[in-house]
Amino acid sequence: MTTSETSNLDILQQQDPDVYAALKGEEQRQKSGIELIPSENYTFPEVLATLGSVFTNKYSEGYPGRRYYGGQQYTDQIETLARDRAKAVFKCEHANVQPLSGSAMNQAVYLGLLEPGDTIMAMDLSHGGHLTHGAPVSHMGKLFNFVRYVTNPVDGSIDYDQVRKDALEHKPKMVLCGYTSYPRDIDYEKFKAIADEVGAITMTDASHFGGLVAGQSMRNPFDFGFDIVTTTTHKSLRGPRGGMVLCKKEFASKIDKSVFPGLQGGPHMNAIAGIAVTLKRAQTQGFKDYAEQVLVNSKTLADELMQRQASLITGGTDNHMMVVDTMASYGLDGRVAEETLDKVNITTNKQIIPDDPLPPLRPSGIRIGTPAATARGMNEADMRQLGEWIDRCLRSPEDEAVLGEIQGAVETFCEKFPVPGL
Ligand SMILES: *Cc1c(COP(=O)(O)O)cnc(C)c1O
Repeated sequence: MTTSETSNLDILQQQDPDVYAALKGEEQRQKSGIELIPSENYTFPEVLATLGSVFTNKYSEGYPGRRYYGGQQYTDQIETLARDRAKAVFKCEHANVQPLSGSAMNQAVYLGLLEPGDTIMAMDLSHGGHLTHGAPVSHMGKLFNFVRYVTNPVDGSIDYDQVRKDALEHKPKMVLCGYTSYPRDIDYEKFKAIADEVGAITMTDASHFGGLVAGQSMRNPFDFGFDIVTTTTHKSLRGPRGGMVLCKKEFASKIDKSVFPGLQGGPHMNAIAGIAVTLKRAQTQGFKDYAEQVLVNSKTLADELMQRQASLITGGTDNHMMVVDTMASYGLDGRVAEETLDKVNITTNKQIIPDDPLPPLRPSGIRIGTPAATARGMNEADMRQLGEWIDRCLRSPEDEAVLGEIQGAVETFCEKFPVPGL
């Protein structure tokens, strides 16, 4: 840590001991537990430095070279760096790095390229889609006519025959793929062929696996002719909280106008500085190795759980996450499973499974992912150990002795793996 950061923390401690104490508590929580929520990660130390920097003081409405306020020589530099690096990393023609987060990024795409009432095909929330993919409780779900596709009950993969049938029937203006809880890769060729048949725009929301596309361990939708790819920057990419819209040149001007002034005002330049440094990291061999290890770890953990007779949705994983049917495996609903694992410092999240008979706050499963654990340097042997702990916990949720023993073991284990930036 530099002296100025240390002194800023000293000032925080003096000025506001309550917030300081919570910050220290959260640091300790992140150090002494294993983070397995698939959408979370530990960002790079240099990202923490940019987020707490003077870029947070600056208003930069507009885009580099065309701003509504003066004093933009350095903000223009970092936004241009971020955009150029995004284009290089994702092999695309245009990048907008201003969306304030993932939800705003998707809203900007729909509102910029479509008219209210237009039809969009996207994955159903309960089968793995995101809230912003037209869930009825979301504003977007009310503004646009979403047709939701599901997974097939046989192997749990997306039912492409049904997607095609629905597309021919409903003639969507946009076909959207991407997920928040789906342990398989996407068949981009099939989606593209279906969209072409009905003349729809193709969009992938790569929020969860954007870092794995960047690190080249998962396929890039642009290699299959996709028009738009969106991704959050804080999940597998390990950057600051934010979103990016990546697209073909023909959509560039509509996307830029939709983000600003259509949807947002001033961009968060401290976050954009963080995105720039993240995308520099993403071009290194170290990041490629990281992305590969995330997948190896995910497969290893899934394998360990299945060897112990846990039931995984789709019977495994092709990506960084798995969904465990805790009801079928252990007779525990997802809430109890999540709370039991919390007791031993293993953080997961309860998760609805396809056609879940149980309600969202007490669903049938949990979701587990490896991006954060891998960022701390955990490998295959560590995943096998984790699998054993998870399985033992969920088999004895009431046994305080077992839980206490595992909690102690997890804390000791965590000491071997420093949290990046701490
Ligand atoms: C996380 C996520 C988002 C939304 O990101 P926020 O930053 O939480 O708004 C959008 N789409 C998908 C698929 C996601 O996983």
